[in-house]
Amino acid sequence: MDGLAMGESAYGDPLKAEELGPAGPRAAGVVWDLGFIEPSAAAAREHLAHTVQKAKTFAARWEGKLGGADAATWARALGELGAISNAFRAAASYNGLRLAENSLSTVNQDLDAYVNRESVQFENVTRFLELDWKALPSARAKALARDPALARYRHYLERLLEDAPHTLSAVEERALAERSPAAESAWESLFHETLSGIVVDFDAGEGVRKHTIDEILAYRMSADAALRGRAVTALFAALEPWKGVLAKCYDSLVGDRLAIDRLRGYVDASGAPLPMQQANVANDLSDAVVSTMMKAVEDHYSVVQTYYRRKAALLGVKQLTFEDQYAPIGTPKPCTYDEARSLVLAAVGSFSKSAASILEKFFTENRIDAEPRKGKTGGAFCSGVAQDKKPVVLMNFTDTINDAMTLAHELGHGLHFSLAQKAQTPFECETGMAMAEVASTFNEMLLFDYLLEREKDPAARQALIASRIEESCATIFRQTMMARYEERAYAAREHGESLGADRLSDIWFEENQKEFGDALSLPQGYRLGWAYIPHFINTRFYTYSYSFAHLTSLALYAKYKAEGQPFVAKYLDLLRTGGAKSPEDLLRKVGIDITDPAWVEPAFALISRWTSQL
Ligand SMILES: [Zn+2]
Repeated sequence: MDGLAMGESAYGDPLKAEELGPAGPRAAGVVWDLGFIEPSAAAAREHLAHTVQKAKTFAARWEGKLGGADAATWARALGELGAISNAFRAAASYNGLRLAENSLSTVNQDLDAYVNRESVQFENVTRFLELDWKALPSARAKALARDPALARYRHYLERLLEDAPHTLSAVEERALAERSPAAESAWESLFHETLSGIVVDFDAGEGVRKHTIDEILAYRMSADAALRGRAVTALFAALEPWKGVLAKCYDSLVGDRLAIDRLRGYVDASGAPLPMQQANVANDLSDAVVSTMMKAVEDHYSVVQTYYRRKAALLGVKQLTFEDQYAPIGTPKPCTYDEARSLVLAAVGSFSKSAASILEKFFTENRIDAEPRKGKTGGAFCSGVAQDKKPVVLMNFTDTINDAMTLAHELGHGLHFSLAQKAQTPFECETGMAMAEVASTFNEMLLFDYLLEREKDPAARQALIASRIEESCATIFRQTMMARYEERAYAAREHGESLGADRLSDIWFEENQKEFGDALSLPQGYRLGWAYIPHFINTRFYTYSYSFAHLTSLALYAKYKAEGQPFVAKYLDLLRTGGAKSPEDLLRKVGIDITDPAWVEPAFALISRWTSQL
């Protein structure tokens, strides 16, 4: 990979590649060793059974006895539950990781069935603690949460109290839970089964064969313009006959969710449901912060439009069409796994030596599974395993620079987990959705800048910059646009309008047109673009947290560029705090005030600067 200073290490203690042995092409031989979690599937089963037994003993000792307890007693109970949860989480994570490395193994499938059964039991046995806490008289609970003896659990306990007014009586909660399989879950299943049943007969050049929707969508990144165009036309045609049933699933879910919002008191002063509030509470963000952010993103749709006009010029067309939206720009260079390892460690090392040495251990302790294999899950993830264990990374490395970015991304999660797990309790070591993608995106930024500083080849630079912008635009603007679409759908339903396919298509198309303006022409077929997005069905308003996290990462990165080294300690402190503070408090400590609409400006400035470099 010429043009790049391969193997250059900006931190003190460079990785000795010969100690690890070189990885083969496509990371052949790079397989994780999960032995530090559990020695075997049999041992994991034994640990799970033992832990459920311990949980029962714990419940027998504490259930119904915490009502009048003092702070020190609550702290003792929480400490015990934390230790039991850690043991359970470790064995359960071990199961999930084994299944991800090979879903075809019968041993792994059996372990999974066992874990699923035990998990329900474990939850049922330990749930009382949260319920007992929520049942305390509000003033008493608030005073206890402020007691120094409970300082390490404060944020967790206070968040439970926020949730308390929306929790119904035990009988009502049970009734809702028991009807769920025939109500909410049934509509979700019908949607997913319908969607996965849609196969598109399509000829990508090797004769007609059946394609899943995801396979068809992947052609949108092809360098072949005709293929991209044919693929999207085929997709829209395949969706058309199913739009009615897909819309009906959504309509029923929205109606059901609005009714339950009313029951749970997620309502305004007039008693009308506030459909976003539940998501905002779960994300630990205020309603005002979320609406300010969404409005700010929409006010900057011109940033996306400027990029698409530039892209049209680069592709030599007057106006960008939908089929050209994800057309590749420039020529990316290949990258081997060993190169990616050196690059990521050097990029992170130039930011913080201590962060790089934490990440180096992922390699030396075999906590990364990178080779693509049959039976192994697709995509990539980082698992924290348990608060008292070390995180691991899974990905499928195929020798592209994109894979190096994915490695940086997952190791960003790995750094966040490593720091927070060491500093926080099991109840507060994990952040909510809004902060979960911050460290991962920040790590991508470190690698991106490191590569760009060294890359001299214009076509490779162009590929790097364009994919960075497209990633940011898809995450910041598109995810907010989707949340706005949802908001309008819930409002329509609340005002007595049913969410048929035509109405959903109208709202969807209007919101997309707002985002793209005249910089991208949308075909009529894309009116069905809402139909294949599972987030709307699974978790409402899930998407805006991606926008939030991405904006936050870019704002943090701009701060790092402005402040230099003094920023590093503040950033690592933010990661170390995990979920022990709200995003608003976490970010205020590094000098970002997310109640001020201007907090998003540095992110947009970065994207605009990249666009001008294309
Ligand atoms: Zn991620």
